[in-house]
Amino acid sequence: MSFDYSQIPREYPRRFLSRDVDFDDWSQVERIFAELEKRSIHSVEELESWLEDESEFYSAFYEVYALRYARMTCQTDDPEREKAYLHFVEEIEPKAKPPIFNLDKKFLETPAREQLPGRYFVLNRRRQNNVELFRPENVELEKEEAKLAQKFEKIAGARTVFFDGQERTLQQMAQYLENVSRDIRKETWSLAEDRRTKDRETMDQLYSELVALRQKIAKNAGFDNYMGYAFRRRERFDYSPEDCIRFQDAVEQHIVPLMRLLDQERSKTLQVEQLRPWDLDVDPMGKPPLKPFNSMPELMQKCGRIYDQLDSDFGTNFRNMVDLALIDPESRRGKAPGGYCLELPELRLPFIFLNLVGRDNDVRTILHESGHAFHTFATRNLAPHFHYRGENAPIEFAEVASMSMELLGGEHIEGTFYDHNDAARSRHEHLESIVRLLPWIATIDAFQHWVYTNPDHTPREREEFWLRLRVRFGGGESWERYEEIQRSYWQRQGHLFTSPFYYIEYGIAQLGALGIWVQYHKDPKAGVAAYKRALALGGSKTLPELFAAAGLPFDFGPKIVQSCARELGAELRRE
Ligand SMILES: [Zn+2]
Repeated sequence: MSFDYSQIPREYPRRFLSRDVDFDDWSQVERIFAELEKRSIHSVEELESWLEDESEFYSAFYEVYALRYARMTCQTDDPEREKAYLHFVEEIEPKAKPPIFNLDKKFLETPAREQLPGRYFVLNRRRQNNVELFRPENVELEKEEAKLAQKFEKIAGARTVFFDGQERTLQQMAQYLENVSRDIRKETWSLAEDRRTKDRETMDQLYSELVALRQKIAKNAGFDNYMGYAFRRRERFDYSPEDCIRFQDAVEQHIVPLMRLLDQERSKTLQVEQLRPWDLDVDPMGKPPLKPFNSMPELMQKCGRIYDQLDSDFGTNFRNMVDLALIDPESRRGKAPGGYCLELPELRLPFIFLNLVGRDNDVRTILHESGHAFHTFATRNLAPHFHYRGENAPIEFAEVASMSMELLGGEHIEGTFYDHNDAARSRHEHLESIVRLLPWIATIDAFQHWVYTNPDHTPREREEFWLRLRVRFGGGESWERYEEIQRSYWQRQGHLFTSPFYYIEYGIAQLGALGIWVQYHKDPKAGVAAYKRALALGGSKTLPELFAAAGLPFDFGPKIVQSCARELGAELRRE
């Protein structure tokens, strides 16, 4: 573990909870829930103070979860850490679900709620939604759903192939797609795809089961289909399925042509007659990978310089995290894969977990997670409820915070990480990845719309629909002789199994981040100011209000998509 929890200054002392609550002891936790549930509330002042106490309690409660998750992922081979984490998620958290629901209900049934000032609007709406969607008969079904989703993770995680004398995971195999040798790329791509194909029918069946189960959950809650339910469950109060369809159509019209143009250039530079699926990740000039830094202290120092150039608060907050060891950047044995930024809600501080090895993409990853961290810093003193602070902002905007930082930070990699040419190459790769991401998001979103509004489809019909989507949103690569692989290609998108409908958020946020970036180009100071203004609101406002604070319309239709396509096209030609 990188940071020493006991050494971090507690700037927000407890007023309601006693210092020594033992969150491993359910009877103690239960007593706090009971105290809040039984308290009589006669005035709006009493309700506000009740909310304050509840917020303090939830902050402390979820801090235990966050801390144990962080400790466990930093060292997965330590049985003590695993035990502490599992005890909390298996013994404590499930027991807390009914009393959490009871507090939501108590809040809704308190007459003083009607007199709460406007700043409680978002909190009110969220809790009302929770209670309205709750059905006791869905509790078991949701458990079943979680089990099936876990089954997906297990099947996907167990896949390995044997290559170059070693057993390798499919994630490890992905790096060979950057290899300059086309033969190696093709061989490793085929190996990985053949391995995936072995699970094709199992995955098909698993997905069909999930779709049927979700349909049942939606029906129980009074919805015709799961799409309507998912929109409410995901708190999409401010946009509709029709808005998502407008996004899909706009991406097809404005982004797909740009992506196909990039593919044409790529096949010319690579000097191949026909671009293939294994040709999309390699540097087309055949240059060796960029090397932005050699050591973690060097990385930290250079990031600090970038943040100083953007805004003095960013620099100060980042160095603060470094000093408290709230960033664990390097990849090492025993660490869980991936990267994340989480909030320690009682300390009101972020923790960044990464697996960096010195690649170009690592720079973007740390910029991204820093954006999330700055969100937490920006909302440290935000009242009145922990629901409003950084990490709890709606994901459509939380990802604006992080994706914008990739773009704004990218403006300063020259002179810190790279010389002029390498910086241009790194930026080009980043922008190209954005152009490729948007059509993929549109595909996944359109796929789910169809799947859940046609719940009685057969696996074959599903594949046919998927292929039609790939004609609309696919790039210039040829799948000839690999059509069967293309038919089941959707199965690699874990969100379809584990987090239905969760994906368009990234598209909405990416367009928002591009909007911030455009403002920054016009006037760097004003761009950063708009970014900071919106971050400081955390999750206390609706999505249209958060976007407005950032100087952006809350719109992901043709007008915005077209202007983003223009900006991306212009920048890509410049470099
Ligand atoms: Zn993120």
